[in-house]
Amino acid sequence: MNNLDNIRNDFPILSKKVNGKSLVYFDNGATTQKPNSVIQVISDYYKDYNSNVHRGVHQLSQLATEKYENARIVLKQFINASYKEEVIFTKGTTEAINIVASSYGRKSLSKGDEVIISAMEHHSNIVPWQMICEEKGAKLIIAPINNDGDLIMDQLFDLINSNTKIISLTHVSNTLGTINPIQEIIDTAHSYNAVVLIDAAQSIQHLPIDVQQLNCDFLAFSGHKMYGPTGVGVLFGKKRILEEMGPIQGGGDMIKEVTFNKTTYNDLPYKFEAGTPNIVGVIGLAEAIKYIQKTGFDFIQKQESALLMKATHSLSEIDGLRIIGNAKQKSSVISFVVDGVHPFDIGTLLDQLGIAIRTGHHCTQPLMDYFKIPGTARASFSFYNSEDEVGLMVEGLKKAVKMLA
Ligand code: PMP
Repeated sequence: MNNLDNIRNDFPILSKKVNGKSLVYFDNGATTQKPNSVIQVISDYYKDYNSNVHRGVHQLSQLATEKYENARIVLKQFINASYKEEVIFTKGTTEAINIVASSYGRKSLSKGDEVIISAMEHHSNIVPWQMICEEKGAKLIIAPINNDGDLIMDQLFDLINSNTKIISLTHVSNTLGTINPIQEIIDTAHSYNAVVLIDAAQSIQHLPIDVQQLNCDFLAFSGHKMYGPTGVGVLFGKKRILEEMGPIQGGGDMIKEVTFNKTTYNDLPYKFEAGTPNIVGVIGLAEAIKYIQKTGFDFIQKQESALLMKATHSLSEIDGLRIIGNAKQKSSVISFVVDGVHPFDIGTLLDQLGIAIRTGHHCTQPLMDYFKIPGTARASFSFYNSEDEVGLMVEGLKKAVKMLA
């Protein structure tokens, strides 16, 4: 049985004091805190079997390799991939998207082809496509949103045609919290033979994802936003597509045989994992997944939607405060602006109360341009947050607005 107190005790940082106050951590969209079990496996790796993978015949290397490869199976099962070779370990979402743009994009795009992204994308799902489209003479098309922060679906469907080769879309907006109807988009894209990449950086920790059911071609996410370590993430790709793609980095592990005349490349997934990987990161990520599975998405969703509901209701009562992002389906992210007050000042005053929120453009500058604002204050909740903490933020905000407005 889950119990919030027990869950909070699993995360040692949550009992920390910041500026003399109990930490209220509402910057989970940027990165999440780590449970003891994840911290423990990281320390065990360095204390007990630190060594390189896929190389040594010695016992430590064999153990590290076994844990690293077992982690791949944990990841495969978590997203319900068909094969473990479809799980490629990367540095994070950013690297995963860059691999697809640089490898699949470079191979498949030519002049006149079109790549569709949306107006709510994170810079990491904009810039790699700008780069490859510029190189290949392809066109980057932006699917529009409305003032609530929902995709305008009929306009998006009008943009998809036989020139569309790739659609790369965030599942959940890190700034607005919008949950996009990705299934419909994937199905439509496939009817035009376009492939679809889903940026799951902000959904994988909140919603169950089944890549076979979704039938997405690629999925990208980061370990650090799902209670795992930084510097590790996953690119899922359909085996058939990954097999046709060339590697983008050369080095150790990604080769079968090297001579000065010719090099042959390794099979999946190693073709895309050149060099010593983030071994401890991968092992920590698998442990984080076990923690999510133990907690269960039922509990996670129940808790996070209660926090979102309370925050939405309470913030709406503050004079001059405007919530940016009122999509029909939202994840536990709430962005807001206050008339006459800079988001940075709100963040600074809340920090003095031990409350950590994020301020700025959240790596979504085009989205800020759309709303004609320089940035927002953003609170993003995790299942380990409490409704009392939301109350503390609201009290703090009321004081801040009174002082600053
Ligand atoms: N996409 C989205 C929607 C994100 O929120 C983020 C991180 N804020 C990223 C991509 C990039 O993730 P990372 O920095 O871990 O590579």
